[in-house]
Amino acid sequence: MDLTKHAFFEGKTVPLSEARISIATHGFLYGTAVFGGMRAYWNEEKQRLFVFRPYDHFHRLLNSGKMMTMSVPYDEEGLTELTVDLLRTDNWRRDVYLRPTIYKADMGIGVRLHELKDEFCMFVMAYEPYVKNDTNAHVTVSSWRRIDDNVIPARGKVAGAYANSALIKTDANRAGFDEALVLDQNGHISEGSAMNIFMAREGVLITPPVTDNILEGITRRSVIEVARKELGLDVVERSIDRTEVYMADELFMTGTAAQVVAVTKVDHRPVGGGSMGPITTKLRAAYEDIVRGKNPRFANWNVEV
Ligand code: PMP
Repeated sequence: MDLTKHAFFEGKTVPLSEARISIATHGFLYGTAVFGGMRAYWNEEKQRLFVFRPYDHFHRLLNSGKMMTMSVPYDEEGLTELTVDLLRTDNWRRDVYLRPTIYKADMGIGVRLHELKDEFCMFVMAYEPYVKNDTNAHVTVSSWRRIDDNVIPARGKVAGAYANSALIKTDANRAGFDEALVLDQNGHISEGSAMNIFMAREGVLITPPVTDNILEGITRRSVIEVARKELGLDVVERSIDRTEVYMADELFMTGTAAQVVAVTKVDHRPVGGGSMGPITTKLRAAYEDIVRGKNPRFANWNVEV
């Protein structure tokens, strides 16, 4: 990472090399932090950078914080302004990824959430593709289970909970798969290690509801709206059984980093015809235009830097 670039840390913009926390910090010791993951996209024709849905990302971040008894002296608008300022500071002219975090900043031992100081920080990095195989991913069903709402809520991005995602991802990769689908405690498919899941069956898009231990994904929500408005598709939010994905016509995963990833094989079984299907192809193209600020119907999702 380029340490000469800037970060927002302890209330001000500083060089990334100076944005450091102690090894005794609560958030580091216990995973008591919540975070976001946003992207800004470079539009070559307009010579402009567009941040994708920052208000919604910060809304989720603040809600994750609320769940973990964290509060910061900023609202969604304030955080969006701060983002634009940070991107301007380094004059980014390429696709970037932003990582805002709220963390328990006190130092010392004592596991709890109350009576601790909260801090907000954010850094920017050049975007690198997340899933290499995004047009023909091969996924497995993980032997790990998704964290339950009554264990560590999956609907928000709690740092410590990502130990679950890391176990899922590493075991899938080491077994030769690109990603994994994870079952929740009821045996329903929740999502991937860091992506939501959609399946197409008989022309209808189906995705697990937010009550099935998923992260409330911004890309998921965007894709639902684009599928309805641009493609005229029916989208149903309901639980998905494990074996349904073996019979799906199409399968794709969504996330800020990876966007829309076509899954063409599950546990060595081809999905549909075994190559990326028409709905996935159309959604990938529509999404790519929207995030880059090229579709005026969704211009309210793009914040110009
Ligand atoms: N699920 C999990 C567990 C994730 O970490 C992510 C990435 N933030 C997603 C789904 C996708 O969410 P979003 O579209 O908001 O990036």
